[in-house]
Amino acid sequence: MRDPGWRAEEAGKVARRATEWAETHQKRFQHDFPAISTYLPVMGEPDLEFYNKHYGFLPVHLTGERMTVGRAHPRRCRFCGKQGPDVTFLKEAHALPEMVGNKTLFSLHECDACNELFGRTIEYHFGRWTGFQRTTSAVTGKNGVPQYQSKDGNVQWDVGAEGANIVFKGDIGPVKVDVEGRKVTISGEVQPYIPRFAYKCLVKMALSVMPEEDVAHFAYAFPWLREVDPAKDRHPGGFFRVMQSFTNGFKPFRWPTYILLRRKNDGDEIPHYSFVLAWGNYSHQIFIPFSAKDAHLRGRQITLPPFPNLYESDPARKVTRWDDDLGSLEKTEVKVQTVTYHMDSIVEKPITPAPETPLEPRG
Ligand SMILES: [Zn+2]
Repeated sequence: MRDPGWRAEEAGKVARRATEWAETHQKRFQHDFPAISTYLPVMGEPDLEFYNKHYGFLPVHLTGERMTVGRAHPRRCRFCGKQGPDVTFLKEAHALPEMVGNKTLFSLHECDACNELFGRTIEYHFGRWTGFQRTTSAVTGKNGVPQYQSKDGNVQWDVGAEGANIVFKGDIGPVKVDVEGRKVTISGEVQPYIPRFAYKCLVKMALSVMPEEDVAHFAYAFPWLREVDPAKDRHPGGFFRVMQSFTNGFKPFRWPTYILLRRKNDGDEIPHYSFVLAWGNYSHQIFIPFSAKDAHLRGRQITLPPFPNLYESDPARKVTRWDDDLGSLEKTEVKVQTVTYHMDSIVEKPITPAPETPLEPRG
């Protein structure tokens, strides 16, 4: 029979180990969640010099040529860490979602289970967050461009290679037409979404295209991406900022483009990685959370300029900037967004009688 002293000693050891574990994890928790504050880009200038000085970057334009990221052998899922035969890789996983216009960049390191999970969670919410902008930017997703059609069918628009053709009949409801100024303003509804899940989708894209050698620094991000219960995501945040831009004109980013920016000097008081995605008329920039190399940024408030987009110095274009906090875990209400178009021409025509045969359903 063991004496009570031994038990007390063991119990003491267990308690110490538990305390150490808690301290380690507490530290890690704090280290992994730097409070990053970005200034309102609307009020400041994008700063290429800043990025040239502090970050190394390689822009990747998807140009219709098929490309893959990741290793085929051994085939291992970056998101859940599993490999065959525990998981399968039968489906082609898009490294960036198809809905941003990606038809050509595929990932070898995303298993079917993770692909399916992300499709119905974070990509679903990203899709809703960007639904109206996809329509108005004419970005071609899985089912073609999301066509705009008002509920009564009096406003329809079709997008060709060279521009949008908008047809109005009778009562045009939320659409305002300024014939003199050749302007058309369209309102559309943004369906409810969870902002933080839309943000997670941007993080997921960044981690999909990140070089293998840096993935281990973001180990904490992967289970967080896969957590689908908002109630279990208790991270206080501070970093869920997205710097956005809108560039006018028809489809300025004809192909989706992304830029991954990696800090040159790890001693610098700026985040380890940033990710910029440009597609259609929009760009989004985030600073990727959870890098183990950002421990020195814990609790810091950091002012960061936006990365300029391609058209920033183009006098023929107008770039509008703002930033959004996507930290909320509450589902949004239905929101109305508007966008104004300058038309090359507005033509009035008499309404022709409806055809005998029904129109093809839109897909
Ligand atoms: Zn997986």
